[in-house]
Order: sequence, then C-alpha cells, then structure tokens
Amino acid sequence: MNASNAKIIKETGNVCFKDVAGCEEAKLEVLELVSFLKSPNQYHDLGAKIPKGALLSGSPGTGKTLLAKATAGEANVPFITVNGSEFQEVFVGVGPARIRDVFSMARKMAPCIVFIDEIDAVGRTRGNGSCIWQSEQENTLNQLLVEMDGFNSSTNIVVLASTNRADLLDPALRRPGRFDRHIHLGLPDLKGRASIFKVHLRPLKLEPGLNLEELSRKLAAQTPGFTGAEMASVCNEAALRAARHLSQCIRAEHFEQAVERVIGGLEKNTQPLQLLEKTMVAYHKAGHAVAGWFLEHAEPLLKVSIAPRGRGLGYAQYLSKELHLLSQDQLFDRMCMMLGGRVAEQVFFRLITTGARDDLRKVTQTAYEQVVQFGMNKVVGQVSYDLHLQQNAVTEKPYSESAAQLIDQEVRSLVDDAFQRTLQLVVNKKEMVEKVAKRLLEKEMLDRADMVELLGPRPFQEKGLYEEYGEALDFEEETPPPEGLKDGQKNKEDKQTKSALYL
Ligand code: ADP
Ligand code: ZN
Repeated sequence: MNASNAKIIKETGNVCFKDVAGCEEAKLEVLELVSFLKSPNQYHDLGAKIPKGALLSGSPGTGKTLLAKATAGEANVPFITVNGSEFQEVFVGVGPARIRDVFSMARKMAPCIVFIDEIDAVGRTRGNGSCIWQSEQENTLNQLLVEMDGFNSSTNIVVLASTNRADLLDPALRRPGRFDRHIHLGLPDLKGRASIFKVHLRPLKLEPGLNLEELSRKLAAQTPGFTGAEMASVCNEAALRAARHLSQCIRAEHFEQAVERVIGGLEKNTQPLQLLEKTMVAYHKAGHAVAGWFLEHAEPLLKVSIAPRGRGLGYAQYLSKELHLLSQDQLFDRMCMMLGGRVAEQVFFRLITTGARDDLRKVTQTAYEQVVQFGMNKVVGQVSYDLHLQQNAVTEKPYSESAAQLIDQEVRSLVDDAFQRTLQLVVNKKEMVEKVAKRLLEKEMLDRADMVELLGPRPFQEKGLYEEYGEALDFEEETPPPEGLKDGQKNKEDKQTKSALYL
C-alpha cells in the first residue's frame, strides 16, 4: 500500500522540444535544467546552485505534461511521473511513505526528472490541521519539502510539478531551493496556435491540394482561446471523420467540422429543437451578429450556427484580434455586442428567455471590471480593487459599504447605457436582423460571405481585418532559436499566401 504508483518512463527520447510548439519562453526557461541534467559537472565545478524544481502552471491542456516530458527527452534522462492525488490517502502515514518511495526510486535513477502532476492535491496552503485528512495532507507536503531540501549537489534530480491553480499552493513550496522557478504556460496566441497546428498536422495524410502552412494558419485564425490539447483534438477529430467517411485523405471540410465539433460538442441529431425554440435561437444569434457587424470595435463574425450541439444551442465563432490593451470604447462595443442577443429577443418576441445567461454574466463581469479594476468610471475614480469575480461571490470587499453602493450603481448604469445603445441599434436594423435570422433558420449556419451578402460590407474604414489576419500570420523572419531549440525545419513562410484566405 505504501508503494506509489509512480510510472517510470525511460524512453522519453521520442518527445522533445520540437513537439512542443508555441511556448518559446517556457522552453527557454527549462533549457537550463536540460543542460544541467546533461552535464552537471560543469555547474558543480563553478559552484552554481541549480534550481531543484520548477512549477509549471497553466490551464489544463496547455502542454505542461508535454513540456516536462520533452525536458526529460531533451536531456535524455528517465522521467518519473506521479499524480498528486495519489498522495491523498486518509490512512495515516501513507502519503508521506509514498513520497519517500518516489524519491528513493528517483535517487537510484538519477540523473532524472520527477514530475508531479496536479501538485495542488498535496500542496494546498496548509490550514490549521483540524481534521485528520488535513493533517495527513500536511504531513505529505512536509515530506515532499524534506525530500527536496535533502538534495545535495550530487543528487542530480529535478522536480517538475504542474498545477492549474498556482494561487492555491502553499507558499513554502515556492521558497528558494524548492520550486523556485515558476513557468507559466498561457493560452497560445495566433502565431503559437499556427505552430502547434503545424506539429499536429504534420503526421496526417492531407489532401494533396492542402498546404500545411496555409492550413495551420487558417485553423489558428479560427480557434482563438484554444489550448494545445484542443488543437490536437481538432486534428485527430478531422482524421477520424475522414476515416469514418472512408476518405483516402483528410480534406478541408473535415477540419471545418472538427473545429465545430470541438467548440460546440457533438451535433445532436436526435434532439431537434422545437420550431419556436429554434426561431428564438436564430433571432438571438442574429441580434449578436448584426450588432457586431455595425459596432466598430466588436469582433467580427466568422461563422454562426443554430444546429443544437452538446454544449448548447448553436455556437458562434468570432475573429479575435487578441489585443493586449483595450480602450473604454472597445469594451463598450463588446458589451453591446454581447447584449445583442437578449435585445433581439425582446424586440422581436417581447419576451425574454433563459438563453442569455452566459451573455449577461460576461456583460456583468466586464462592467464590474471596468468600474472596480480598470478605473474607467468617473464617479468611482482611478482605483483598482482586487476581486475574484469569477467565483460569483465577492466575499471580502476591500472597500466600504458606501463605495460598494456607488459601484453597484455605476455598474448598473453602465450596463443600462450599453443596453439602450444596443436596443437603438437593433431597432434601427430590425429588417437586417430579420434577414439574418431567416437565413439562419433556413440554412442553420451562416458565414462571413453570407453576412456580406445580406448586410453589405462592414461600414468601417477597416483595413480588412481578415487580410490583416493573413498578415499577422505571416511570421516575420524569426531570430534563430537558441541551441537545442532548433525546430528541425524552420520553414520560410511563403509570403504569397496571405489575404483573402479567410473571406
Ligand atoms: P497539461 O499537462 O497542461 O494538461 P498536456 O501536456 O497533457 O497538458 O497536453 C495534452 C496534449 O495537448 C499533448 O499531449 C499535446 O498533444 C497537446 N499539446 C498541448 N500543448 C501543446 C504544445 N504547446 N505543442 C504541441 N502540442 C501540445
Ligand atoms: Zn447570446
């Protein structure tokens, strides 16, 4: 019972840095660990203290495990992997015993990497230890710290740990000499997504006309907010679809369906919507689409569908510009666009449905952020309070009751302003909303070309965002990657293949 279920993977040589795309900074961070594991003496001779551990944080699927494996692969050392939840045992002494077990295994195999997945299971901030479970968890955590503190200059073990809630970890874990490196893996940006797609598309058998570069960029543009795991799943889903249809190779339409599948879940053919419901959904989506079309700073539509899917009633894809800074105007336009659905319900049906909950949640959140965090409200002023609005419960307010009232009032009036503006817009463009909704009901799906046909081009002097995308995707000449990071084939991107790709 005391033995851990840690798995030892000796042959990680097959996963290396070239399999991890789109997180160059993170790779640079672990590169030092690699060279330490490869030639420890060089470091010891100079008297350098090498970090014993690094914490990899980021949402699930951002490639933490992959990066850890690649680190072992690059250094060509064994990889011992264990899940934090394995140490969660109510039996007294089992957790610490398993930790000891893992590290004695590691000592025998050194140089090696120990990877603790989901370390938050053991590493949560220690409480007052009132119940048995908690004090067991504390003992386990203490044992881990003892083991790491016991490393000496000839131990040659690097401990990597992953978590998606770095904020919950006990500060003791982050002290120097323990997990003193913190590597965050964020969601990949456009460029990062394109290179991740490239990694996953390479082994696939594509239709001869499909260009790998072009396809990766196109998919990257369609998948803002995707994690590496989701992108891998798009590629696999496309291959599965092609196989299911007995196709000889994977075609563009398979990828398109795969993206939809990953965004929206499986089509539900078995549970068609009632006509009335479908109509409501169509008008709701049309409201968003039309509002977005006529609001300069809203993210323009790529595709909208009302076919019911696992994850809700239809879905919409927008082109996101991935700006790092947003102005007040931009935030306001986005709020209006989010309200477009609810407003359309009200304008056309004079009744509102439960379908707008998600929209309203986002509107409320951004409104609070503007007032409380970004200092964008005149009355409340230039202040920024730290709130965890996601948890829907603001437990401790760092401001007075009167400030709270003021904030609530200002949030309300901001949302109200956005609502009124959207209402006016939707009323003005009522026929257009109707056209879009009808076409949606007929075809179940609309893309940008349909929108242009129905509404005319977007009335802004915009350098076609879509072309801009093509350009953004034209990777500039990259500075050569540091030794060890060579991508094998850093393709010179073809400058011809931009624009019009997404029209
Ligand atoms: P995490 O440990 O962060 O939850 P994983 O490392 O298990 O995520 O990622 C799951 C899968 O997603 C990987 O096996 C890989 O196929 C894919 N993936 C994630 N990030 C990347 C990336 N940066 N480059 C290539 N593939 C990735
Ligand atoms: Zn909506």
